[in-house]
Amino acid sequence: MTVAYLGLGANLGDARQTLKDAVVCLAQQHTITVLAKSSLYRTAPIDAGGDDYLNLVVKLDTSMPVRHLLALCHKIEHHFGRERPFRNAPRTLDLDILLYGEHAIDEPDLIVPHPRMTERAFVLVPLVEIEPALIIPQRGRADAFLPGVAGQRIEKMKSPCQCLASNASNAANASDAAGTLGMADNGDDAPKGGCR
Ligand code: ADP
Ligand code: MG
Repeated sequence: MTVAYLGLGANLGDARQTLKDAVVCLAQQHTITVLAKSSLYRTAPIDAGGDDYLNLVVKLDTSMPVRHLLALCHKIEHHFGRERPFRNAPRTLDLDILLYGEHAIDEPDLIVPHPRMTERAFVLVPLVEIEPALIIPQRGRADAFLPGVAGQRIEKMKSPCQCLASNASNAANASDAAGTLGMADNGDDAPKGGCR
């Protein structure tokens, strides 16, 4: 099993609902346990125009190989209508692998730790919320990077809905909720039929 952290963001459509449902999609996978969820944050777009984003970070325990996890992220993004008309375009859902255990991966389509995670308040602030003493492999303590992003606008949402509360106890209920999304667990590490 590997502890992984994912960053989620959205600024098109019903972003709050999409983020809630995306966490359900993750928790519904039998090879993933959602250990923690950050609060929901409203953040300024970075290197992009468009509306404010909503962001959160989740901590997972997973037996899913990192490549399968990336494929699952893409599948869930697609399920929620993600399009890529241009770089940094507004998006219904973005799912990034921030950390995957202690692994350091540098391949054309997968870089872990995520290369820009220490430059983004919308990643660092929720990450440090759920893991205050987190060490980013090869970079050091996550909270040491917070002063560097202090100029980026980020606001914790005052009244997150219950399903986005910071403890992840609702993971056990995910199957029920996932059923309403028409999502199925295949009993297989590979996310073949998860989000349809
Ligand atoms: P971004 O998240 O950088 O704004 P995209 O979501 O469109 O942009 O992702 C572009 C590509 O980044 C994806 O197709 C994916 O293969 C690649 N990528 C590289 N490293 C990662 C990572 N750690 N997590 C998610 N995607 C990654
Ligand atoms: Mg992405």
